[in-house]
Amino acid sequence: MQAIVFDGRLKLTGGRPRPVPARGEALIRVTMAGICNTDMEITKGYLGFRGIMGHEFTGVVEAEGGRSGRLVGKRVVGEINCGCGACDLCLAGLEKHCPHRTTIGILGRDGAFAEHMTLPVGNLYEIPEGLSDEEAVFTEPLAAAFEILEQVRIGTSDRVLVLGDGKLGILCALVLRLTGARVTLAGKHPAKLGIARDQGVPVTLTKDLPAGGKHDVVVEATGSAGAFETAMMLTRPRGVIVLKSTVAHGTPINLAPLVIDEITVVGSRCGPFKPALKALARGLVDVRPLISAVFPLEDAKKAFAAAGKRNTLKVLLDLRKG
Ligand SMILES: [Zn+2]
Ligand SMILES: [Zn+2]
Repeated sequence: MQAIVFDGRLKLTGGRPRPVPARGEALIRVTMAGICNTDMEITKGYLGFRGIMGHEFTGVVEAEGGRSGRLVGKRVVGEINCGCGACDLCLAGLEKHCPHRTTIGILGRDGAFAEHMTLPVGNLYEIPEGLSDEEAVFTEPLAAAFEILEQVRIGTSDRVLVLGDGKLGILCALVLRLTGARVTLAGKHPAKLGIARDQGVPVTLTKDLPAGGKHDVVVEATGSAGAFETAMMLTRPRGVIVLKSTVAHGTPINLAPLVIDEITVVGSRCGPFKPALKALARGLVDVRPLISAVFPLEDAKKAFAAAGKRNTLKVLLDLRKG
């Protein structure tokens, strides 16, 4: 089968064998896949991943290895982390923190940029009727935005600031707005900010943020190293900073403001699929304006080139035939 593989270099190959589902796994024919910043990082060597890339996908279940086949023929999305199922973290439902975990297209497990893939049946969620593949493919990044609501109590009177107008920042702002809180999205790109503004989120250029303006919750989703200091300045005493960026860097930061203002820092990664799918199905969040371009799998190189451009948001791969 065809697949986009990273083996030190990004390659489109036609020679990958179709995977065979193990007991408890489903064989999935991939229909759409999304390229995310993590994929761009992987092509630069992030986590040393080797194999078939991709973790944002929609697909159709073709077979289930082992018992019941309730999902065969159904359109699905899937959670990306696969735990061992036996350790304390897995038993507590925290597979994404399992020390033995694999993650599709990121850590020790082939991903979704291929005609077929396998994933444990328990990771899969049926796509509601009426929700298109183009929208459902955003479930995984949207779930990451919903994770914030699992971690931080946000009230209707709270002032929430999201820093960063990339894909994740926009999705975080659109999700947090659903709480009724006073959410502002700050970024550097008027066109990207416009996507959130069109859906009712007040937006501002980061440089226009008032220096003394303090927020109850600041979500750092810029993907850039310096933004943590900005986040500290804009958080009120006893407020919360939610860190979404996974920028590994060695720049020294003065953490004293965290102590002086008794600020809580919350790291935040993958999130729950159910509320994300529900929000998409109900039209509470419109992800379609985030789609910058759609390419067939064969145009992998072009797709990655497009995804790496400054003003691009989501680039999708369409694997549906005919
Ligand atoms: Zn991603
Ligand atoms: Zn485990």
